[in-house]
Amino acid sequence: IMTSSPTYLPVLERVAEEIGHTPGRGRSADYIPALAARDARAFGMAVAELDGTVYGVGDWREPFSAQSITKVFTLALDLAREGDELWEHVGREPSGNPFNSLVQLEYENGIPRNPFINAGALVVTDRLQTRTGDAAGELLGFLRAESGNPELDFDEEVAASETVNGDRNAALAHFMASYGNIDNPVPVLLEQYFRQCSITASCADLALATRFLARHGLRADGTRLLASRQAKQVNAVMLTCGTYDAAGDFAYRVGLPGKSGVGGGIIAVVPGRCALCVWSPGLDERGNSVAGVAALDRFTTLTDLSVF
Ligand code: GLU
Repeated sequence: IMTSSPTYLPVLERVAEEIGHTPGRGRSADYIPALAARDARAFGMAVAELDGTVYGVGDWREPFSAQSITKVFTLALDLAREGDELWEHVGREPSGNPFNSLVQLEYENGIPRNPFINAGALVVTDRLQTRTGDAAGELLGFLRAESGNPELDFDEEVAASETVNGDRNAALAHFMASYGNIDNPVPVLLEQYFRQCSITASCADLALATRFLARHGLRADGTRLLASRQAKQVNAVMLTCGTYDAAGDFAYRVGLPGKSGVGGGIIAVVPGRCALCVWSPGLDERGNSVAGVAALDRFTTLTDLSVF
């Protein structure tokens, strides 16, 4: 296997140094103890090139809670199986509302705005569960294969605290079930969803796992997960809906498809070039990593690698 040289390592080093000098990095998520315990100032960033060469700076090998980043992978896994029928059950417009909002669902007959708000992600996981019988297991298997890291796993403590604090997700699921837009019993769906959110992985793992979106749908082993057209669609939904109700600002600053999670991670895609993952637990008021967005902003500015 030919591996290329770490093309963007000098840029990552410069970005890390600049970020190290930036004070005021937000606060770690505090809705569950395991996330609140993480140091808001930790910082890591990794690049995975198309051929699987991966490198990074700072805490790029430190595992963290992937949380909503996993929504990208369940979307891809479900789209690969059911194709466009999925879009009859979940939309693809930005919501402009917080990620766990209930309000739009009532006006839109239980069809969530997009697959990356919680309601939409619950629909996607429900559909993947129906098709595979083990949505979270399917996701974990995919992430292990793409990252080449067989040790990736669920964090049972995080999954259990999500369950204890899961009233709003339960409400979303029940509400959509009342419109007939959920297939599985709600408790089954919630268990799958909370396990999904609890997956722990590093920037290196997640950059490698995101690579298929930079490779127009091709997996690490060269087989195809998504048609090139579908990879384009997933990237487009990430660009418009991937960073909670700040997707406009993220597109403006970073100019790449990206997906954030409340664990402080953000994945991003440079189609045809590379995949990135940055992690820093300090969040802004919308739930995006402060240093993570700043680092991606600097990266695309310094390299000119945006989709614009
Ligand atoms: N487990 C969180 C929830 O569903 C995920 C939040 C996130 O990363 O956006 O509320």
